[in-house]
Amino acid sequence: EQLSTTPHIAIVPSPGISHFTAFTEFAKRLVHRHSFSITFVIPNDGSLSKAQQSLLGSLPPSIAHVLLPPVTLDDLPAETTRIETIIALMLARSLRNEVRRLQKSTRLVALVVDFFGTDAFNMAEEFSVSPFLFFPGAAMCLSLFLHLSTLDEAVSCEYRDLPELVKIPSYIPVHGRDLLEPVHDCHNDTHKWVLHHARRCRLAKGILLNSFEELEPKVIEYLQGEELSKPLVYSVGPLVNIKQSSKSDGSECLKWLDEHPKCSVLYVSFGSGGTLSYDQIQELALGLEMSEHMFLWVMRTPNDIAAEAAYLARDSQNEPFEGLVVSLWVPQAQVLAHSSIGGFLTHCGWNSTLESMLNGVPLFAEQRINACMLTQDIKVALRPSADPESGLVGRDVIPKVVKRLMRGEEGKRIRNRMKELEDAAAKVLGEDRSSTRALSELALIWKAKLKNQPH
Ligand code: UDP
Repeated sequence: EQLSTTPHIAIVPSPGISHFTAFTEFAKRLVHRHSFSITFVIPNDGSLSKAQQSLLGSLPPSIAHVLLPPVTLDDLPAETTRIETIIALMLARSLRNEVRRLQKSTRLVALVVDFFGTDAFNMAEEFSVSPFLFFPGAAMCLSLFLHLSTLDEAVSCEYRDLPELVKIPSYIPVHGRDLLEPVHDCHNDTHKWVLHHARRCRLAKGILLNSFEELEPKVIEYLQGEELSKPLVYSVGPLVNIKQSSKSDGSECLKWLDEHPKCSVLYVSFGSGGTLSYDQIQELALGLEMSEHMFLWVMRTPNDIAAEAAYLARDSQNEPFEGLVVSLWVPQAQVLAHSSIGGFLTHCGWNSTLESMLNGVPLFAEQRINACMLTQDIKVALRPSADPESGLVGRDVIPKVVKRLMRGEEGKRIRNRMKELEDAAAKVLGEDRSSTRALSELALIWKAKLKNQPH
């Protein structure tokens, strides 16, 4: 049987929607600019979310997808088995057949995996395709991960208790407690997984980074330096979905936004999962009310108490607030592009951060290492301080930060800086600019691999 001459890439994303979105944007660019064909091979727990389904449905025909067949996980304790373990087992138990099938039926040249998929690199070798990693976070986080194993050997206590600041290569020193959550607790299972994958990242032929040179010039230059024995890094970002299809719940909130003046509404959302505790949601609700500022809040179930979540849902139907609270999924890309949005209170997930940047919307940063980066390094966000004992951002703190961001001089400065980055972000994806060039380099390498194939 005659094989097509089109080079083929297998992409193995992790199941969450946020990384998935960036992956699909990457796939679309590769197909449009360099005529590849692609198959997404998707680990899953039996079904895909609506958001994932609609994303897959919107892809061009040269991007196919298959769901990895369910594997029996009966031999694992259901309550204590973490998602990282499940992904690792799914890949180990069912990916091989799929890669074999693709190798037989296409001109497979590379296998691109997510951070938690590095175990699949063994298979790349077996089928002689190139192993690549798509890193879904900031360059600064990649620098941390590539350094994590060395750091771990030097640190004897929990990172969050470290008296001195942690040095990430080529980056500003940060507090141990500001590192990503799974990193700072050394006795946690997730920490072990992160360390495992962080070590294996180095086995990749190359790492694709969803960031761009103007945003993180120093770290990207360091990561691309030749003196370090690590994979080549290609910064191909910012890859985010800027044109989402609007669903019914979404159009309602866009209509609501239409009724408000330019830059007057604060958008409040903490990503695709439940990121806040019940207590933090309460503090935030009271704080937002006290700020007397218009807001649009996408509320999720608290991450701690399920019963109280139900209670909260009942409460929010009574519309006790000044702004609009929606408890479903909003088309965030369109919300951020709306002219009435003047600020974004976010948990600083990397996708939300890039989406905000592409729309020039300044940030009010809630937590974690990205928050440090956005406040101290890139200076496009204000960060409220949490109470050291409870760890909560209190209701009194919130109105002050809302005011500084939405009305003050400081907010204006941040907005201007964000505008500069918005311009830079739009440009790097243009003809002959850095992120486009990085993608072309990669395409050349992959196509060269095709020439060496025996078919
Ligand atoms: N998102 C959305 N609607 C929502 C909540 C989230 O479209 O109501 C999208 C958002 O645009 C972003 C992703 O979900 O692309 C969240 O990714 P991020 O990296 O910010 O956070 P994570 O979910 O990984 O914590």
